[in-house]
Amino acid sequence: MHQQRIWMFSHLIILRDGHHGLRFLLSFCYFLFAVIFFPMEPVTSSAERKPCRGDKDLPSLLRAYDPDAYKMLRFGLDDGWDYSAYVSDPDRPVDSLGTIVHEAFHAYSYAQGSYRAASGTSSVIHEESFYLGHGSTRMIRYENVFPTEKAACAIPGRLRTFRYNAYVGKGSGLSSNQDGIYGLLNEFCAYYWGMRAMESIFPYLRKHAGRIEDWKAFVTDYCNYRNAYAEFYFYILEYFRYAKRYRPAIYKKLMKDKALLTTFRTMQKRYERLICRYERDLNRLSRQYNGCSLNRSRSHGIIFLGSYGWGAGDSAYELLMPVIRSRRYKYLRRRIAGYPHAKDFIDAGDMSAYNGTEFFLNGRNYTRKATLERSV
Ligand SMILES: [Zn+2]
Repeated sequence: MHQQRIWMFSHLIILRDGHHGLRFLLSFCYFLFAVIFFPMEPVTSSAERKPCRGDKDLPSLLRAYDPDAYKMLRFGLDDGWDYSAYVSDPDRPVDSLGTIVHEAFHAYSYAQGSYRAASGTSSVIHEESFYLGHGSTRMIRYENVFPTEKAACAIPGRLRTFRYNAYVGKGSGLSSNQDGIYGLLNEFCAYYWGMRAMESIFPYLRKHAGRIEDWKAFVTDYCNYRNAYAEFYFYILEYFRYAKRYRPAIYKKLMKDKALLTTFRTMQKRYERLICRYERDLNRLSRQYNGCSLNRSRSHGIIFLGSYGWGAGDSAYELLMPVIRSRRYKYLRRRIAGYPHAKDFIDAGDMSAYNGTEFFLNGRNYTRKATLERSV
């Protein structure tokens, strides 16, 4: 997990946006409403917030709302793992639940894995455990692969989003770079579990949120985890694509690795559905605080609730999803989806396809067509 950038926008930002008359009107009404009825104090001060069991006992909260995530956290706690280092605000530990579960997933998969001796006293991962939920765990054996940066260095500047440098950029020491495809998949799953934990406690948060500000972590986590979905999905596809082109022996081995492919396929589908569920929750909040749908409360990657707006640092999801769904990866997506004889009719393009006519000079038509394709 990387420290996220968070923006808080006031109505003044909306005032500059001349294209959103309705939103401006709505915002202005909220502003007047707030000034008239709540001139000095927030709706509920921190001291007035209802007693909140989850603030005191995160494991019990998780056990009640997301038993699968709890299983990983419990495993860590029994192993002496201390999650307090991941709590950013001691007064609201529940806001850090996504990060805690993300890290608990990493800890669980490393601890359950096995290792073999390497040079000297060091050891390397032999296999790693991926928790899929409902008590099911899949072991994935680590083969000798190349670091992700070899594939990622061909990604053009405009597609290098927030996580690029830290996770797959040249010299990154993180597992997502060093362990190649396995590290990427591990990170992809960790983000899924973090997002799942936050979405699971939505009923709890709804019951206890006294002020709009109480939704800050819930909204920003949605933006961050949704971006992470697109970023790691993109890196995984690029990794396979590079392997196919430049390291065919490794590619062949990876394509025969059922545990690897089915884990990715399963988690990708679940992640996709989770984003939809999260959006349904946000839609309810938007209707409650704004009187309109989520789509109308979202602007330039920022989600507005009342007089607050929160978002992630960039719009990686909006930028990368049309690329992921494009014909560039159609063959790979079909192979991963379990069509071993998928016809490789598009993979003739090379890396320059990013910058050339294939994507961006004719980008509008191409992208529109691509997004109509069913994602496999
Ligand atoms: Zn991580």
